[in-house]
Amino acid sequence: MKVYWSCPTCKEENSKNTFHTDRVEFAMREGEIQKVKCVRCNKYAEIPVDDFYAQKSNLIALIAGGIALLGTPFIFYYSMYIASENYYIIGGYMLTPIVIYSIMMQQENTRVTRFNFHKFKR
Ligand SMILES: [Zn+2]
Repeated sequence: MKVYWSCPTCKEENSKNTFHTDRVEFAMREGEIQKVKCVRCNKYAEIPVDDFYAQKSNLIALIAGGIALLGTPFIFYYSMYIASENYYIIGGYMLTPIVIYSIMMQQENTRVTRFNFHKFKR
């Protein structure tokens, strides 16, 4: 998941990756007011956690997509080997990377929605 804030000086949208899944945990671990540096004007700013907002991380999409892309041929050969000519079983196995992809994307959606919905103080 990626969290965003806009720079108070130049209004540039900045972002960073975080593994914290909700705002409370994010505040506890990284501080209620976070000192961040703007990538555009290089100025430091102190941003309250409630002013951060989450968006889906491209990294998760990339990892999930990679699993689907690389996993499918692997599962295909593996299922050919163990299921030989049972095409229903092969088909079933081949859905595995797609299912993993869907679950990962769904979890990311849930995290983003939850983060944006719950405020730490307000
Ligand atoms: Zn700035």
